[in-house]
Amino acid sequence: MFSAINRKVKRFVLRQHKKKPVVWISDTTLRDGAQMPGIRLSPEQKLAIAKALAAAGVHSIDCGFPAASPNDVEGIRLIAKNVKGSVLSALSRTVKSDIDLSADALSSVSPLKRAITLFIGTSPLHREHKHHMTKSQIIDTAVEAIDHAQKFFEIISFGPEDASRTEPEFLHKIYEEAIGAGAMSIGFTDTVGILTPDKCAATVRRIQDNVKNMDDAMMAVHFHNDLGLATANSLACIKEGVNVVQGTINGVGERAGNVALEEVVMALHLHHDEFKKSTTVDPKALSELSKLVARLTGFEPASNKAVIGTNIFRTEAGIHQDGILQNPDTYLPFPPEAIGAGPVELVLGQQSGSNAVRHHLETNGMSTSEEHVKLVLDYLKGNKHDAGDYPEINSFLERLRPFLADERLQTGLASGNPTDGE
Ligand code: MN
Repeated sequence: MFSAINRKVKRFVLRQHKKKPVVWISDTTLRDGAQMPGIRLSPEQKLAIAKALAAAGVHSIDCGFPAASPNDVEGIRLIAKNVKGSVLSALSRTVKSDIDLSADALSSVSPLKRAITLFIGTSPLHREHKHHMTKSQIIDTAVEAIDHAQKFFEIISFGPEDASRTEPEFLHKIYEEAIGAGAMSIGFTDTVGILTPDKCAATVRRIQDNVKNMDDAMMAVHFHNDLGLATANSLACIKEGVNVVQGTINGVGERAGNVALEEVVMALHLHHDEFKKSTTVDPKALSELSKLVARLTGFEPASNKAVIGTNIFRTEAGIHQDGILQNPDTYLPFPPEAIGAGPVELVLGQQSGSNAVRHHLETNGMSTSEEHVKLVLDYLKGNKHDAGDYPEINSFLERLRPFLADERLQTGLASGNPTDGE
């Protein structure tokens, strides 16, 4: 019953797909992201994130690893029954019982919308110290698993674990065998996040040149951020023709995390002239998606996190504030609306100038006389941060509280205690 689409037709569709100027975004927030120490998502929370990912236009969602826990199975089942639009996938070792669990968890999804990703360690470290298998045993295991998975799945991805530390010849060989056995997508993984952009681009080129049946499969990358290079690495591989980028929202994931999808999506969105590829993800959904993942995982991204950090649209420096007041583009890479965030915040602190102070006084319906502006600036720049020292503008300062950047400035107002000499 699963040969509804035979191999020939599948290949034809796949080749058409590969030609499209699109990078398909695959999300693994619910699987690799959820492996981050301290993150624990209930099935209901996973469902909420999966719904938001699908609504944002994410092409495929790695919903979990059924063999890891009953919680994963429950989460996948819940998502399978309630999320439409994206391809829903489960992670599985190259073990029959894992594959059966994945098939069962995704059984309610139509054959063209459910997928399985099979993985096995291929690097010498993984072969010798984890699997205790020879190269040919690893290949046989992968091929047998793909064969078994075809009983349940039309869409099979094969991802060698620790591919970036695997010998090139062996990597090419196992990809070739996996595609020959029926894998529709092969993944190049940098499991420990060790690559640089030039090295991963060269590897991807080599794979495409050496894997003879490469035209019959999509190529995906799965990168980690241990050197802070995951986004640069993903973009370098996109230039080499990679079709799928897998990552997580807010870059959550093992160790330094996975590639942050909001970064990849925005880089492609802003530099279409360079990459000539788009994604199906709506950039305007990124801010809300990021906030949802932060709230449910309990992991708040750093305020200076690229694209979605709270400081991206927030500035205290006088020159920047003055520029932004005249034209926001002067000191912003893109307007907050581009990712569905906003508005720009001009916070008041030691660095602020008179224009930002005047702006806040004016928008709050207060006097903007030179004298008042000067008094507020004195307060911001002075060492005394006790509103009591500024009785003339005391009520002004209270009303400016939401815009005060410095905790010390706010404390001075709240407590009324002198904070001199701190
Ligand atoms: Mn990973």
